[in-house]
Amino acid sequence: MEKAKNNGRILIIGAGGVATVAAHKCAQAPETFKEIMVASRTLSKCEAIKRDIGLRYGRDIQTGQVDADNTPELVNLINTFRPDLILNLALPYQDLHIMDACLETGVDYIDTANYEPLDEAHFEYSWQWAYQEKFKQRGIMAVLGSGFDPGVTNVFTAYAQKHLFDEIHYLDVLDCNAGSHGHAFATNFNPEINIREVTQVVRHWQEGKWIETPAIIEEGSIHFTFDYPVAGPKESYLLYHEELESLALNTRGLKRARFWMTFSENYLTHLKVLNNVGMTRIDEVDYEGCKVVPIKFLKALLPEPTSLGTGYTGKTVIGNIMTGIKEGKSTTKYIYNVCDHEEAFRETGTQAIAYTTGVPAMIGAMMMLKGAWQGEGVYNLEQLDPDLFMEALNQYGLPWHIVDHEPLPATV
Ligand code: NDP
Repeated sequence: MEKAKNNGRILIIGAGGVATVAAHKCAQAPETFKEIMVASRTLSKCEAIKRDIGLRYGRDIQTGQVDADNTPELVNLINTFRPDLILNLALPYQDLHIMDACLETGVDYIDTANYEPLDEAHFEYSWQWAYQEKFKQRGIMAVLGSGFDPGVTNVFTAYAQKHLFDEIHYLDVLDCNAGSHGHAFATNFNPEINIREVTQVVRHWQEGKWIETPAIIEEGSIHFTFDYPVAGPKESYLLYHEELESLALNTRGLKRARFWMTFSENYLTHLKVLNNVGMTRIDEVDYEGCKVVPIKFLKALLPEPTSLGTGYTGKTVIGNIMTGIKEGKSTTKYIYNVCDHEEAFRETGTQAIAYTTGVPAMIGAMMMLKGAWQGEGVYNLEQLDPDLFMEALNQYGLPWHIVDHEPLPATV
């Protein structure tokens, strides 16, 4: 079947913090996003986004209620709205069901987080890369991981590979949240997904192999103090992150790839206790005859990430330090963005973590709808041309800087 003509129609699935930002940013670019629908499990959240967008930009968007795990229900919604592109901002559990619906209806797909099965705290691209042939045969495109990390960090690498290096040998992604939300403990995006991610055994890539080290809450976790631009010195922990998997494959000459994230003592202490008492378990526990999944119960107790924006102060600083060769000379470059929680809140009613994810989600969607990114099959961001995406980051609220830097040490 032929792909539908591009009418600038986007279906956003999910109505959490990231979807809120993406919907706002789509509404700010009416020449590309001519019609917008936000559909999610809880209709009232979609309605709240619609109201806010109406008030701020005078634009009317559509809303829908859908369980994205129910592929026939989603197919019905797609056939009614007839989008040119689906932007999946629900949870990683929904990725494959939504990709199935795209295959059935012939609609392009983009997301911000790779698939993860409900019953196993493990994420990797294999499940979505397995759709390569099916998407090619159907003549449609899937773009995986268009948030900040993964997302912008992949585009920074592609840009560096295209313009700044002949070969990148060492890549370090550094993710700093120097903000303060005023709660004793909260996560900045979906608590269940966030806690599953940060309690895992850590891996980094070196000389073609994955090296395992203790989780951030275990004895022997690897960390060092990095002096971030604007934010200053912060303790940064080695963490496994999904972009390492695709960047290790797609970066010319790469010898080592690591990911670092800042955590406060307070956050780590809470997480250790929750983990030690079993509150981060993802299996069912019998409680007085009811089946309870502790991490889901914990999610119900923690603040909704969308509620954190009020009073959130400080900044995020996320970027890549890359060392490699240009014209025979060794060189190190640092590409990074600084985002302010209060400014993000003023513009979209959410904090900077949702903002730094929702803006690149919109930009990735824009690249696809404008035809700057075209293809058939499944792509990670570093496989696509970075230039227009980098321009759009400057235009839509995530300006970046490139500076010379010292290489990061091999061991810390
Ligand atoms: P939230 O939990 O705030 O929002 C998730 C939304 O998805 C909710 O509206 C939820 O509905 C909806 N949803 C869940 N299940 C279904 C379903 N079966 N059908 C339809 N809708 C569903 O999450 P965030 O906004 O914080 O995060 C969204 C995504 O962004 C996540 O996948 C996260 O991993 C990713 N992310 C990526 C980052 C990056 O840099 N690449 C950084 C941060 C997040 P309901 O309200 O009913 O629960």
